[in-house]
Amino acid sequence: MLIDGRWVTAENEKTFEVADPATGKLLARVPDASVRDGLAALESSTRAAAGWAAAPTRQRAELLRRAFEAVVTRREEFARLITAEMGKPLTESRAEVDYGAEFLRWYSEEAARPAGDYRIAPDGASRLLVSRRPVGPCLLITPWNFPLAMATRKVAAALAAGCTAVLKPAPQTPLTTLLFAGVLQEAGLPAGVLNVVTTLDAPGVCGPLLADGRIRKLSFTGSTAVGRTLIAQCGPKVVRPSMELGGNAPFIVFGDADVERAVDGAMTAKMRNMGEACTAANRLLVHRGVANEFSALLTERMTSLTVGHGLDPQSQVGPVIDQAGCDKLERLVNDAVERGAVIGTGGAALEGAGTFFAPTVLTGVPPEARMFKEEIFGPVAAITLFDDPDEAISLANDTEYGLVAYLYSRDLEHGLRVAERLDFGMVALNRAIVSNAAAPFGGVKQSGLGREGGREGINDYLDLQYVSLDS
Ligand code: NAP
Repeated sequence: MLIDGRWVTAENEKTFEVADPATGKLLARVPDASVRDGLAALESSTRAAAGWAAAPTRQRAELLRRAFEAVVTRREEFARLITAEMGKPLTESRAEVDYGAEFLRWYSEEAARPAGDYRIAPDGASRLLVSRRPVGPCLLITPWNFPLAMATRKVAAALAAGCTAVLKPAPQTPLTTLLFAGVLQEAGLPAGVLNVVTTLDAPGVCGPLLADGRIRKLSFTGSTAVGRTLIAQCGPKVVRPSMELGGNAPFIVFGDADVERAVDGAMTAKMRNMGEACTAANRLLVHRGVANEFSALLTERMTSLTVGHGLDPQSQVGPVIDQAGCDKLERLVNDAVERGAVIGTGGAALEGAGTFFAPTVLTGVPPEARMFKEEIFGPVAAITLFDDPDEAISLANDTEYGLVAYLYSRDLEHGLRVAERLDFGMVALNRAIVSNAAAPFGGVKQSGLGREGGREGINDYLDLQYVSLDS
């Protein structure tokens, strides 16, 4: 782990295993941090905070720029490591490296542009100076599904803003995060500005940090269930929470859509990351008039996918992250079938080593099915029919989540009108990917608080200060 600029073991020498989900084979052992290790990381980021906040923004920008260059140069090394510990096919890992690196470049550019302004009070009696300053030491917690991009999305914005941080990666995928921390160090990261703590005891290590008072901000990406408990833990010390939580994306195909284009989009929105993405199309809502064509084409495409180890160049679908993920898929599919859905292809885990699940299409999924309400998080496409646009919008909004919605229609004006009625933080119109370092990524309702990326993302790490001047 990286604590105070040094690579260290856990103080009690404990470790845990990181395994390849495609084979179950051991990849590495990493330190299993104790509460004391977590507090040492907090100490270090607190000590480094004033110096980093005072560092010229150019210095912060150039560190991020050098890290960007290094990640791009080492693209293949990062991609192979992501595939090894997370399972996604190599082409997708390369795409994640490109996406993840982009946050370093974007925030290297944003770092030098912290906005402030000078105002005259309406009564003319005073001057109002408004400036932005780093919130202070941050705790950053990331999930396993995009091990590089979820880390760079937080770290780049935090460091650009002048904050120091303790980063805790998911235990399934700590190796990519450690490699990234190494890259930052080679790029000139001062000791303590970023600490990385790997542990199997996330609540035990993170709880005391949130209770301490010196951590001023929590940025969490993960499930809504864990997000809720962490928001509560932010209460006592009024730690500012940013939450990138779960999604239950509707993918609406209107009757006037270009069906082939919609199927292409559905393949991407559903199958990117084997469906293990918060942005994954969870509910395919298809107009009855185009449903047969859409379902047939989608089933054909899903059936033709090659499932295999992510490092195999033929592989288009890797394993799901673990046995629990596989079991959940089976339960959700069985529940939908019991409620009347029909399996077009797939429907079960694959025999043999690794946690592979067959690419699956279900038609006639009723809104009462569990998969209509919960994140599927796997290669299972669930189709539900609708008859008129109002019904589609009301089905789409019928969820506690509000991260992203997709819609396909040839009529752009109609598409924009529908977008205005969708209760989601992001809407993709005739597109299957919303992730972009230059855009404010994030959800409404129980999908999150705050935004990552874009001009907006850095604001989560900045406080406003207003100075009142006598005229
Ligand atoms: P998770 O179980 O919520 O875990 C996320 C991270 O939080 C892991 O590092 C986990 O470590 C840690 N954690 C769990 N309980 C904790 C606690 N009490 N205190 C501190 N840390 C704790 O989610 P996941 O299964 O890794 O990721 C999948 C979820 O992430 C999905 O719901 C997905 O939609 C969401 N996600 C959202 C976005 C977004 O931008 N909105 C992006 C990617 C993923 P342990 O595993 O050791 O518990």
